[in-house]
This record gives sequence, structure tokens and C-alpha cells, in this order.
Amino acid sequence: MVIKKRKTRQVKIGNVKIGGNAPVSIQSMAKTDTADMQVTVSQIKALEQQGCEIVRVAVKNMACARVLDKIKARIGIPIVADIHFHFQLALEAISRGVDGLRLNPGNIYRRSEIKQVVKMAKKKDIPIRVGVNSGSLRTSGKKKKIAGQMVKSALDYIKILNDLDFYSIIVSLKASDLLTTVQAYRMMAKKCDYPFHLGLTAAGPEDPGSLKSAIGLGVLLAEGIGDTIRVSLTADPNEEVKVARNILTALKLRKDKIEIVSCPTCGRCEIELIKIVKQVKKRLNQLTISDHCSPVKVAIMGCVVNGPGEARDADVGLAGGRKSGIIFRKGKIVKKVGEKEMVDELVKEILNPKKS
Ligand code: SF4
Repeated sequence: MVIKKRKTRQVKIGNVKIGGNAPVSIQSMAKTDTADMQVTVSQIKALEQQGCEIVRVAVKNMACARVLDKIKARIGIPIVADIHFHFQLALEAISRGVDGLRLNPGNIYRRSEIKQVVKMAKKKDIPIRVGVNSGSLRTSGKKKKIAGQMVKSALDYIKILNDLDFYSIIVSLKASDLLTTVQAYRMMAKKCDYPFHLGLTAAGPEDPGSLKSAIGLGVLLAEGIGDTIRVSLTADPNEEVKVARNILTALKLRKDKIEIVSCPTCGRCEIELIKIVKQVKKRLNQLTISDHCSPVKVAIMGCVVNGPGEARDADVGLAGGRKSGIIFRKGKIVKKVGEKEMVDELVKEILNPKKS
């Protein structure tokens, strides 16, 4: 099955295309005090290494806004300024060369202020994310109507931007409640063709936040909804990027990371499969497809029941036997290996450029 993406306009954040036929991109947010430039830059560089393609930083005061040009000059990915309450911070951020803005309709809502921000964003040709958050809705109402209120808030804001002849818009509708978030995005998908930034807000710590994000974002992405994603976790932001990559790889929306398929093991398994998979994963973790040859899917299976089928089906596969295993490449047997050399031989085969 191939996911049919919802048709949207295309918007650019720096050199990253969002929507249209662009791949779903991965975002994260720095968790530092933005004004502390050194710490912020080093966190962003780590995120870049992990595969983050756009980074957002919190701009809570002028001290944060005034270092944005210096941060931008030291990093390799586009930077988005998340503006808190004061439109002057947005003006300062734009003048410092940010690649995009996030405005929350709940806290920057005066038409005269929005007008000034839009005028400058237009001049610099940068997009604005209309980032609705269930926690800062200006209307209060029954909980069950929150999704509708979020959609209304976004549509009202988009109308203001459109009235100012501004269309470089990305939309997000984040709630901490998974089902409310899914409902809001689905409703919004019927109302406009702007690209969506997907996320659950306050998803919680890694466990169960990663899972909640995978379910919420996964449901929408499988329906073709979503053009860029941010997984929000109460954790190291590098974890957010890892989870985001895994979600996109699992849905085959991105093929630049190796997918490991491995069995849960059972009484038939006669090799230490859990240990082997952990070691292979660690060795492959930092690799992207462009770093090496062709394997996209690697199967590591415990025995001869389902093993050979899965291993043959993968780009490189291993089917375990009695303290040994058979390595396959594109359906063909390459060699038989003993348990001790299994990890080395499998990784060698994955990284073998001659046979790609
Ligand atoms: Fe068990 Fe073999 Fe299936 Fe793994 S592949 S779960 S060892 S039957």
C-alpha cells in the first residue's frame, strides 16, 4: 500500500519544502534558553546530526530575538522563531533573518499587530505557521467541542492573513489529547489546502509519549494528512527526532533510514537474537541510506519457521538456525555464519557497496 498524500500548496522554510510533493520533514525544538547562544547552537547541531531538518526556538524576550542571526549563522538547518505574546519579538526575529515564524492565535491576535508582522514576513518571503494549541484557545467551551474550536481559531486567523494577501501559511492544531488532535486535523483537512505541521502537544515522557505520538501522527499520516512533523516529548530533543524518523520509516514516507524487521523470538529460537538485534541496531543507528549502499530493509529472524521468508524479502536478511544463521541479499543466500561472527558479517553485508 502506498499512502496517497492530501493535496496541498507548497511552502518553503529556508531550503526545506513543506507540502505539495515534498517528503514529510522532521522538526524539533531546542529546549534551551535561546538567549544562551552557545548552548542553543550546540543542541541544534546535535539535532542536525540526528536528522532534524527544521528547528524551532522559543523567543520569549528581546534577548532571545537578538541572538537569532548569530544562531542562524552557526547552524545548517532552517530556524523558526516561536513568538510569545509580543509582536515586536516577531518583527525583531524577522529582521534577524529567521526562516519562518510560529504565531499562536491565542496570544498574538490584534489585527494591527498581525498586519505589521505580515508586512515584514512578506517582504522577507518567509512563512508563518498558524500554531493553534488547545491550551491557549481564546474561546472557552465544552471539552467535546475543542477540536471544532481549534479549527475555527485557525480559520479565523488564516482569514486575517489572507485579507492581508498572505498565503505562505502552515497550520498546526495541537492538543494533548490524541483523539482531539486527530479530529481537529481531519476537520481542517476538509477546509483548506495549506500544508500541516503535525504534533501532539504535551505528549508526556518518552514512555508513553513516543507511543501516543506514533499512534496520533501515524493515524493521520496513514490517511495522507501531514507535511512536517514534530514529536513533543518531555525528554532530550534528540529522542523526538529518533521517534519522528521511526514513524516516517515505518509508514514508508521516508526511506533514508534503515528499517530493521526482527521477530519477537520464541522457544524455537536457538541464537541470542535480542542481543544480536541490539548490537546491529547500535552499529546502524547513525547511518542514513546515502552513507552506504542500498539496503533499506534488514530482517533479522530467529529460526527457520518464518525466518527465511522474511530474510529473503528484505534487502539483507538473516535467518537463525542452531547457533548459526544464513545471510540473504535480495532473496539469494550469501553465506552461512556462526553465531559469534553473525553481527560482524551481517553489518559487513549491509555495508557492502559492491553488491548494492
Ligand atoms: Fe519464533 Fe522463529 Fe517466529 Fe522468531 S521467526 S518468533 S524464533 S518462530
